[in-house]
Amino acid sequence: MNQRLRRLLATASAALCAIASLVGCSSDGTSEASAGKAARPGRFASPNPGSVNTYWIQAPEGLILVDTLRTPADARKAIAQIRETGQPVAAILLTHSHPDHVGGAGAFHEAFPEAPILASRATDKAMREDRRGFYPLARSANPRFPAELRYADRTFEDGAPLRVGGIRFKTAGFAYGESDTATVYYRPDTGDLFSGDLAGRKVTPALIEGHSCGWLGILAQLRRRFPAAGTMYPGHGTPGPARTLIDDQRRYLQRFRGLVRSAVAPDSPGGGTVTPGEQRSISTGMERVYPDHPPVADLPTIVQENIKAVARELTAEDAGQVRAVCADRTQKGAATLSAPASTEITRHRVACRPSFPPVHVLRCAPGPGADRRKVHPVPFTESGVLARRV
Ligand SMILES: [Zn+2]
Repeated sequence: MNQRLRRLLATASAALCAIASLVGCSSDGTSEASAGKAARPGRFASPNPGSVNTYWIQAPEGLILVDTLRTPADARKAIAQIRETGQPVAAILLTHSHPDHVGGAGAFHEAFPEAPILASRATDKAMREDRRGFYPLARSANPRFPAELRYADRTFEDGAPLRVGGIRFKTAGFAYGESDTATVYYRPDTGDLFSGDLAGRKVTPALIEGHSCGWLGILAQLRRRFPAAGTMYPGHGTPGPARTLIDDQRRYLQRFRGLVRSAVAPDSPGGGTVTPGEQRSISTGMERVYPDHPPVADLPTIVQENIKAVARELTAEDAGQVRAVCADRTQKGAATLSAPASTEITRHRVACRPSFPPVHVLRCAPGPGADRRKVHPVPFTESGVLARRV
């Protein structure tokens, strides 16, 4: 392609993106349609706190929407953008039952009554039963959350192939991870993976259901089941390479579990209870590694709630039975402290010094039965919390 032709195409592409209604545009203003691929899905993200995404996919028979935002008010803003495309809406897909993804379903249904709302049987059941009482909680936290929910018009079995709007999706269902049930939608012709909340991007996730280990297992399965996935479209944060988003989410969970595990260790300051000081230490440790990661929920205490839930989960875990995929990040390559040979040995404590920075705690405690005359390398997290007893 000569330079002149390339410039002409670029100009045409920029013009199309300027009206941003006929084709999907990437964030840098380029059109994927010009590259001969399917147009990139449109995206609307509600404002923080608790920003959440809805997507619209261009299909032969109209647009396919994924998730419906937290409130009808947010939904109406997205609807205004979707209407600008001038295309009909063929269907609305739900990824899971959390309030921030289904609260706007009624508004979307009013705007596009011809478009059926589809959810897996498991998600539909979770919405109708609301065993965890999330919807009353969402209403009390946000008066704009709807008094009544709009449920799915059609359900399918997780794992069943789905053809909607002229596009074929593979689906997969997962239980007891970020949410009790979750469905991902994979488009084999483009490699697009709509993952709901199974992997967010640069956000502080909700771990309040206390299934961090289950979530780690799901992330490993996602990698295996969709090895050709290219772009992942998360429920929170910007789309990105599937592999990166999955790995980043895994590392976040492992790090968080490692910090909380230290805090509930029997020889930690509060024993099995997370003290306010330990809670601050965990929050600070995560904040240091993950600055500017807004929470996925408009819940100011989400980190504290996450700590409580994961503390309960880890306390109930049988250390000997923990799956390999749930091993703490601190057990593999985190900063470590090594006691030097000249360490002063006291009855219960060994003074340690860092083997390399950054390490902020200079003491460690050998566990019961440890040979205190020996020097043990002791893994510590970056926040300085003892990660594993020796
Ligand atoms: Zn969410």
